[in-house]
Amino acid sequence: MPNRHDLASIETMDATDPLRAFRSRFVLPDGVIYLDGNSLGAASPAVFAELQKAATEEWGQGLIRSWNSAGWFDLPLQLGDRIGRLVGAAKGQTVVADTTSINIYKALHAALALRPGRSVIVAESGSFPTDLYMAEGVASTRPGTKLRLEGVDAASIEELIDENTAVVLVNHVNYKTGALRDMEGLTGKIHAAGALAIWDLCHSAGALPVDLDAAKADFAVGCTYKYLNGGPGSPAFVYAAERHHAGIVQPLSGWWAHARPFAMEVNFAGGEGIRRFQCGTQPMLSLRALKGALDVWDGVDMQALRHKSIALTDLFIELVEARCGKHGVALETTRDSERRGSQVSFAHANAYEVMQALIERGVIGDFRAPSTMRFGFTPLYTSYRDVWQAVAILEEILDSGWWKEPRFAVRSAVT
Ligand SMILES: *Cc1c(COP(=O)(O)O)cnc(C)c1O
Repeated sequence: MPNRHDLASIETMDATDPLRAFRSRFVLPDGVIYLDGNSLGAASPAVFAELQKAATEEWGQGLIRSWNSAGWFDLPLQLGDRIGRLVGAAKGQTVVADTTSINIYKALHAALALRPGRSVIVAESGSFPTDLYMAEGVASTRPGTKLRLEGVDAASIEELIDENTAVVLVNHVNYKTGALRDMEGLTGKIHAAGALAIWDLCHSAGALPVDLDAAKADFAVGCTYKYLNGGPGSPAFVYAAERHHAGIVQPLSGWWAHARPFAMEVNFAGGEGIRRFQCGTQPMLSLRALKGALDVWDGVDMQALRHKSIALTDLFIELVEARCGKHGVALETTRDSERRGSQVSFAHANAYEVMQALIERGVIGDFRAPSTMRFGFTPLYTSYRDVWQAVAILEEILDSGWWKEPRFAVRSAVT
């Protein structure tokens, strides 16, 4: 099949890319084509500068005073609002705290408490596993609570929602296939059954425009270390629609969720609004790294981001199929760009070995068991030329069979 693109047309696409200036705001090692920003986003000088300042000036010189003078105490709410802009949440509904796993725990409990008399949590068997593990954990603390899974108890999530359903926990973009759910449509169906929706945005925050308020989402959670580039283990975020704030209870009722944390009262009294989703002291150095990462996001046009994301993923699919199709790579991501996140997955019988060979050649994607090669496309720092070169290297590896060298079959802990 002839390619629709040649190198000259690729270079024109880069030269006319409205987001091209953002690449210089990231640190990318020479010789690396980074297609794993959906797992760990790239670093940036803005992040290093924030870390340096927070460590040497604010901690080093300011010491305990910096909780007030450097605004540390308010940072989780401030950064929450800045993420809110990227996910369509008006102010006061998003806070940065803890991990996605822990925020799922809090949000599930909050949703169950808002739907007394209903005992079913609906989720997807194809969900990122931690979501399911946390749901199991929540169910184990509430006798009678049941978990129903799409792909196990019925083929589609819609069939599982009924008058016993309290909450539906759903991934906006599937971590493995990149399938994008219709947030507004599914939330409407969940509400029609009287249930609540928790959206996991780990693979959509910073990857595409999200509009939580417009979709009438109830809760949402998400990572900041993937497309938002906050750094390894940077804290997650949690969103709760304002209409639920007065009724929110969550069991991790630490002092940061208290209405008066420094009154040192004996009993818990929940603070106002989204503050109630906090628990204890947050990692300030990681939060400051995230602040630097969010500075880079200021001024990003989310529609331009989406446009480029679709162009990058379309191009990758087209080139891989044209140049590597004979080697048994099978597309696992939808061809319908409207229903696709910012990643593309291909299955191959030796996906692990091929990915290790790619990484040794400087093309960094990742492997998801049992047979998926996953490639993330981050519009702020991935160029069309990167896509072109990555496919050329994949083609060489497959044509030559170089991936069969024994060292590529050795498994590491993190894949
Ligand atoms: C990456 C990811 C997580 C990660 O959760 P942590 O608690 O940060 O480890 C959770 N859910 C989804 C859908 C993810 O993609």
